[in-house]
Amino acid sequence: MSHSDQAKAQFNLNKLQKRLRRQTGQAVMDFNMIEEGDRIMVCLSGGKDSYTMLEMLQHLKRVAPIKFDLFVVNLDQKQPGFPEHVLPEYLDKLDIEYKIVEEDTYSIVTDIIPEGKTTCSLCSRLRRGILYRTAKELGATKIALGHHRDDMIETLFLNMFYGGKLKSMPAKLMSDNGEHMVIRPLAYCKEADISQYAFVQGYPIIPCNLCGSQENLQRKHTKNMLAKWNEEHPGRIESIFTAMQNVVPSHLADAELFDFENLKTGEVIDGGDIALDKPDIPKVPVNTDDEQPAQADVVTINLS
Ligand code: SF4
Repeated sequence: MSHSDQAKAQFNLNKLQKRLRRQTGQAVMDFNMIEEGDRIMVCLSGGKDSYTMLEMLQHLKRVAPIKFDLFVVNLDQKQPGFPEHVLPEYLDKLDIEYKIVEEDTYSIVTDIIPEGKTTCSLCSRLRRGILYRTAKELGATKIALGHHRDDMIETLFLNMFYGGKLKSMPAKLMSDNGEHMVIRPLAYCKEADISQYAFVQGYPIIPCNLCGSQENLQRKHTKNMLAKWNEEHPGRIESIFTAMQNVVPSHLADAELFDFENLKTGEVIDGGDIALDKPDIPKVPVNTDDEQPAQADVVTINLS
């Protein structure tokens, strides 16, 4: 690589890192994810998303005007071939508190679920229970997960296609038992950015298919559909995500969300009456992130 190519690659990496840090900081602020004195349990699976999340949170801890603590938890589910040494070796170098929780959910799942059937739903339920229990034992005030913007968009479509609900994956939510606050600091980060960043950083990625389970086909289809849209209509994904942050209940059809029944003549509602007009749809997709034009800001790092 020539000197100028190296300088360009470094420039692009800095830009990518800055963008990921900015988006993480923004999401944390917008959803008030972290508060003074928080002790945050960072769930590290060994995949690209969780490594990136950990690094972003460590940076935030250094620069944030408030004080909070981080510790890492990895769940070793005893899948065949799980490389037990990888995470401790990585974490020892980071000088961060961590715990590897060993629970053989792999055997439980393979005992209960007949061969050939998808094991993910039971596996995730077991994992969730273990993580909640661990958070309690270790005094965590929040649990951080590495889901990103594209996970949220995929989940939105999955729920629409298969669940009949307009619902995604929230950036911040209370656990079902009301005891744990779950946060997703990468909520504004694109998966493509995370993949490039993880590649350049050389994280010791642990493959996610060790359990041998079939891939979730519905999620895979949705992912492919979105990738195709993005190719054919650049900016569409950005626009969808912007739409998720601009919900207009009075222009949907949920009578529980908006009080259509009591809507009276003389009241002005958000969005106004365009029933007799053509809808005001912009010609190009909406993108509210000024620093991030729909397709120009691409970091070119060869992943092959
Ligand atoms: S892919 Fe394997 S480890 Fe992951 S949720 Fe499914 S069964 Fe569990």
